[in-house]
Amino acid sequence: MSKFTHIYDDAQLLQEELVAHRRYLHQHPELGLELFLTSAYVKKKLTEMGYEAVDCGKSGVLATVGGNSPGKVFLLRADMDALPVKEEVDGDYKSTNENMHACGHDFHTTMLLGAAKLLKENEDKIPGTVKLMFQPAEETLLGAKAMIDAGILENPRVDGAMMIHVMSGQPFKSGKVVVPLVGISSAASDWFELHIKGRGGHGASPNKAVDPLNIAAHTHLALQEINSREVHSSEPLALTIGVMEGGRVSNVIPDRALLKGTIRTYEASTREFVKKRVLEISQAMAQVFRGETDARIIEGCPSIINDEDLVNSANKYLVELLGKEEVLPITDVHPSGKSSGSEDFGFLSEVVPTLSLSLAAGNSLEGYDYPIHHPKVRFDESVLCRGAAVYAYMALRWLEEH
Ligand SMILES: [Zn+2]
Ligand SMILES: [Zn+2]
Repeated sequence: MSKFTHIYDDAQLLQEELVAHRRYLHQHPELGLELFLTSAYVKKKLTEMGYEAVDCGKSGVLATVGGNSPGKVFLLRADMDALPVKEEVDGDYKSTNENMHACGHDFHTTMLLGAAKLLKENEDKIPGTVKLMFQPAEETLLGAKAMIDAGILENPRVDGAMMIHVMSGQPFKSGKVVVPLVGISSAASDWFELHIKGRGGHGASPNKAVDPLNIAAHTHLALQEINSREVHSSEPLALTIGVMEGGRVSNVIPDRALLKGTIRTYEASTREFVKKRVLEISQAMAQVFRGETDARIIEGCPSIINDEDLVNSANKYLVELLGKEEVLPITDVHPSGKSSGSEDFGFLSEVVPTLSLSLAAGNSLEGYDYPIHHPKVRFDESVLCRGAAVYAYMALRWLEEH
């Protein structure tokens, strides 16, 4: 029996306080790296708990607890940014601006504040060190990288890291914790922009012009062949063109056209191959039709990789904490075990062993109908204390056994 099994009881005593944190954050959603109120709130609350909260990259906050007895270093990560979505849920704590915590990052921040309090109360008993990473700009995939560049994984060096993401609008009872399979669980994400240059002219004389819309149309179709003809059929790949722009008048051939799209892959080798082929194919198609394409790849983030030891540890510790019924395998959510979404926590996976858990926070059968990112999404606050307990217990038990 671990000496930390009281953590869930302790967390439940914090529930009211956690609801207050969550409602403040929900009312004041901020975007990207510009989390002025959010970071200030987190730092104030951490300071009140007795922490020294340190700035780490723009709008990022780092706090450290434990370290009194020798041991490893475990990192717990919560993202804090919202989305530029106008909330369509009415209630006492509706967003006060044009943004919305539609991805539940107000929950993550709150749960990690709860874990901070639980860990501080047990600081003398922590068999190692816990780093708390409050991260900005997950939605824009810039925040994790910025905090790594600012040194969050060093001094002391991190030995393992985990994150939690809440889910809503799924047919799972609130509070169930979802454990990933070993290996990749989220897609790598990259963007591309194809600036196509032709030569404009009269619509009646296409022979005297170079039609960039024609090049755009052929390029759009040609890029689809990467998926159907060049990548193995067992290898998941999504290549989507979401912007196709050019021209204003029906009888004028424009000078330029623009295509913008996203690439989602899982394996690093596929990721590199597809990026290379997008550049080659788009430039070649422009040449075929006498134009030019300035093709640009904008790097997003790599996949999350779940470490074998951390996955096995999670399955053991979460059953200890919550009971077997409360722990689900990810294959209940995604039959392949992989989400097509992206998460910039993948940047940590490139450097340290990582684990990504999900927490059900709104059952579609109980009126939580909308998925994350939707302007009508709601989340079940009753799971806040559970999320805090999961963060704290995972860190304490992992350090106890490693
Ligand atoms: Zn999101
Ligand atoms: Zn999110």
